[in-house]
Amino acid sequence: MILGGGPGGYEAALVAAQLGAQVTVVDSDGLGGACVLTDCVPSKTLIATSTTMSVVHGAEDLGIRIGPPPGGGSPGGGAVSGRAYAASAGRAGRGLARVDAPRLYARVKALAKAQSADVELRLSAEGVEIINDRGALAGPGTVIAGGQRIQAGAVLIATGAMPRVLPGAEPDGERILNWRQIYDLPDLPTELIVVGSGVTGAEFASAYQALGSQVTLVSSRERVMPHEDADAAVVVEDVFRRRGMTVLGRSRAAAVKRTRDGVVVTLEGGRTVRGSHCLLTVGMEPATRGLGLEEAGVTLDSQGFVEVDRVSRTTARGVYAAGDCTGVMMLASVAGMQGRIAMWHTLGEAVQPIRLDHVAATIFTDPEIATVGVTANAVESGAEDAVAVKLPLVTNARAKMQGFRDGFVKLFARRGTGIVLGGVVVAPRASELILGVSLAVEQSLTVDQMAHTFAVYPSLSGSLTEAARRLMRPAGDRR
Ligand SMILES: Cc1cc2nc3c(=O)[nH]c(=O)nc-3n(C[C@H](O)[C@H](O)[C@H](O)COP(=O)(O)OP(=O)(O)OC[C@H]3O[C@@H](n4cnc5c(N)ncnc54)[C@H](O)[C@@H]3O)c2cc1C
Repeated sequence: MILGGGPGGYEAALVAAQLGAQVTVVDSDGLGGACVLTDCVPSKTLIATSTTMSVVHGAEDLGIRIGPPPGGGSPGGGAVSGRAYAASAGRAGRGLARVDAPRLYARVKALAKAQSADVELRLSAEGVEIINDRGALAGPGTVIAGGQRIQAGAVLIATGAMPRVLPGAEPDGERILNWRQIYDLPDLPTELIVVGSGVTGAEFASAYQALGSQVTLVSSRERVMPHEDADAAVVVEDVFRRRGMTVLGRSRAAAVKRTRDGVVVTLEGGRTVRGSHCLLTVGMEPATRGLGLEEAGVTLDSQGFVEVDRVSRTTARGVYAAGDCTGVMMLASVAGMQGRIAMWHTLGEAVQPIRLDHVAATIFTDPEIATVGVTANAVESGAEDAVAVKLPLVTNARAKMQGFRDGFVKLFARRGTGIVLGGVVVAPRASELILGVSLAVEQSLTVDQMAHTFAVYPSLSGSLTEAARRLMRPAGDRR
């Protein structure tokens, strides 16, 4: 029995079905979970459009003129309305491109729905039974769902998490929003205040700035994305400011209220910021209430997250948990892996405990920040005995050709052995470039092995092999 049909739940269901188990998934809001319907998939679909807008904004530097043809004829041969032209011509360098928000939001929602239907179809094809209901435990091996009391050999809790609500800043779905409500707006916010500069806040701030909103990012810390690689966060914050975003550091929002035609955010200390809309990205709360977990012997931590070990076991025999409800690195890839590991474990397969230090992750700002393995903090503090090299993107020939100026490649290797321990890539499509470093980390490759690997010339990935070369040491110089 699996409670929750997000990646934690459905990936587990697929593995269990493959191994011949009789599997039932109970889900209250739609298969694919919040990941597919409201969080990861919709935000990355929105970002596909905002990234394209950034390309359009940079097109003139690459020799593409966007605007009316010489002689002042009708722009685009009449394909663009006069209103669109007037709206966009005022924005220097932004040419005729503008976002059709209703169409964008409709695309986002349709794509999420289609992805959810794909997940449902796949589960059904594998023989997984689906119950569309809210389920709960009635003891360690008993689930109540769909009006039934179902006995199970193993139960997986994968109920995810919900946006945290800041007291005094309750979303109304119209002007004060969480990220699950933003796709129901009739248009782009003209002045968007994003409260919270973690990963989600930074991604939405970056996206809306590119889409055409005037964005103010309220960050309680000195810099944005305080938990990420400091060099990477500095690059992205610099890009934000250069593109016209207002970034308010060391500013904690105390309250958000509606005004007649917008919102006012009151910061601690009394200062106020006004805008047309406010997007709250202040973290997640586990969806673990009312599930009968503690009554069944499942221990929750002080914030309500389910405590699990590295093979996804909870403190109740036969009850496993996966994904955001565990609070372990809240990523779809981690949720899926926790769910699969739970099933391999309960069905008696050989299983390796989850290795969180090998998780590759990306922040989908523009440029993207992708990371894997050890952090710069661990290296600089001496917790890891490692050497590091950082190559700015401006030294890469392909980056110059593409007009990419902001970003770098950073590689960490164990001192002495040269084994690759991790890396950071800040670049457009860093999410795709990080795989080379992930492979090296997973397979314990050395910088020598990486340096002997062919990279295409010219390519951004050439900076990864170049970084590895910089960390190679002469044969006589090894300890
Ligand atoms: C804006 C945003 C962007 C993100 N982008 C990325 C990204 O790019 N890459 C990435 O890896 N991660 C991303 N994440 C994180 C990712 O979405 C989560 O880690 C992932 O959704 C966790 O999966 P899950 O299965 O634990 O839970 P969910 O996806 O939340 O699914 C849980 C499901 O359980 C259901 N449920 C809850 N209670 C019950 C109940 N009692 N009975 C039955 N069903 C129940 C819910 O309705 C939901 O359908 C993003 C998160 C946010 C907020």
